[in-house]
Amino acid sequence: MENKFYVLPKLPYEYGALAPYMSEEQLRIHHSKHHQAYVNGANAILQRLDKARKEDAEIDIKSSLKELSWNIGGHLLHSLFWENLAPPGKGGGKPGGVLGDVIEKEFGSFERFKKEFTQAAISVEGSGWAALTYCKQTQRPIIMQIEKHNTNVYPMFRILMVLDVFEHAYYIDYKNDRAKFVEAFWNIVNWDEVNKRIEELLK
Ligand code: MN
Repeated sequence: MENKFYVLPKLPYEYGALAPYMSEEQLRIHHSKHHQAYVNGANAILQRLDKARKEDAEIDIKSSLKELSWNIGGHLLHSLFWENLAPPGKGGGKPGGVLGDVIEKEFGSFERFKKEFTQAAISVEGSGWAALTYCKQTQRPIIMQIEKHNTNVYPMFRILMVLDVFEHAYYIDYKNDRAKFVEAFWNIVNWDEVNKRIEELLK
């Protein structure tokens, strides 16, 4: 069987569908250039590893794995990100279902969760992500502040929702104003999808 590689997923909506919170130009570049670059990067390293193994050649394992983690992390997080966004009207508002209950139990209110998640996103040092995760051991939703694509990650926690705060995610629409982008994000969160992720996890 042939070795498989990563593939850029199609968006579940048009490039212009998230406007005015995320413009067509911003989303097109983010998806077709930045996300694509992580897919290409991960595949290039896998190919390099394949080749070295076939020829039994030397390869710098440490730097290869570091680069692989960066690129696979980028690919997987972006894939989750696109799916947890939805056009305004369909997205935004408040979560219901199991997710709404879990958030309320842990944070006291949706507003409190929103505040903490917003602060997590705004305060990521350098480039990174804010993520809502779920810990099955404690049955708590826990916010994870990821630096780059792969630092501060809790192993085994299911990621329910992510927000990309790399500057490449918002510079066209918001220049350097990350806080304004994070505020806009709440209008296009696909709560149905995020709720689906926790329901699948708890099944
Ligand atoms: Mn990105």
